[in-house]
Amino acid sequence: MVKKIHNPVKIDYVNCLVEDCLQQIKGADSMTTSAQPHEFLSCWVIEIKNKALVQKFVRFAKENIPSNELDGLQNVKKIKVENGALKFIPCSTDTIQTKEKLQELIAEHTKADANDYLLLDQLALIPKTSPPTKEIALEWGKSYWPLTWRGNPNDQVLNDMEYDMVKINKYLKEISELSATCKNTVPSVTIFSNSRQNKLYVAYDERDTTGNPLDHSVMCGIKQVAENLPKDGYLCLDYEVFTTHEPCAMCCMALVHSRISRLFYIQDVKHTGSLKSNYHMHGIKSLNSKYHVFQYVGDKYHAAAVEQSAFV
Ligand SMILES: [Zn+2]
Repeated sequence: MVKKIHNPVKIDYVNCLVEDCLQQIKGADSMTTSAQPHEFLSCWVIEIKNKALVQKFVRFAKENIPSNELDGLQNVKKIKVENGALKFIPCSTDTIQTKEKLQELIAEHTKADANDYLLLDQLALIPKTSPPTKEIALEWGKSYWPLTWRGNPNDQVLNDMEYDMVKINKYLKEISELSATCKNTVPSVTIFSNSRQNKLYVAYDERDTTGNPLDHSVMCGIKQVAENLPKDGYLCLDYEVFTTHEPCAMCCMALVHSRISRLFYIQDVKHTGSLKSNYHMHGIKSLNSKYHVFQYVGDKYHAAAVEQSAFV
């Protein structure tokens, strides 16, 4: 992946580690390192007989076919040679549904006739998702259609993010200290921060005082944001969340719905945590929103101990 501007902080792209202390936690969608693709695009294949027309066909596909297939076809080499024949993928059957329509467009834009090319009856199956590694890209290329390896897309994601380490360290330190002196049964502390609007809320687990089983620190934080919301809109848009313990499924889901941008946490909760330990709920394709998650893995900040089966 080409990084146009290098992020000024230290990023270990192989281990997804920022400044040696923030470990990226991937969402459920990015967990697949499967060696087999699960979804495919069916694509038309043209055998170009008149090799003088190759460039014309490439230009035709580029200029006349809507480029709404970038996800599926961006890594596909458009042309391959098979048994001496030149085979070309113009688009998928999602974009142009019928053979007749494609032939009509080809005739109109390339002036090629039946002697110049053959639109094959057999479609090519192209993996819809990018291969996770270079080795798998080569394998898929052999099994389906040649692919270009453009690097791991997650490198770009990590590079494009902003890391205000002064702020991140400040809030991690704060929740860590508050958690250490907290007397609640579940000593979790959560900060909701919106730098753009200069808003900051600190929330504790309120179950001991309210008796409400839903008053986890994340839920109490969302409630505070909601109470101070000036107008309608997505609740926590542009908010970053700093929390001591890996939140439970209810809290992770509430954070998806409230549209936070990023969450930082310190300690795993093995049995009920739903970011790294289970479910990876911050990145599930079928949900309406996602957020980025980092776990603090340095040795400066800690969270008070909790039962590994407690719902935080
Ligand atoms: Zn919770």
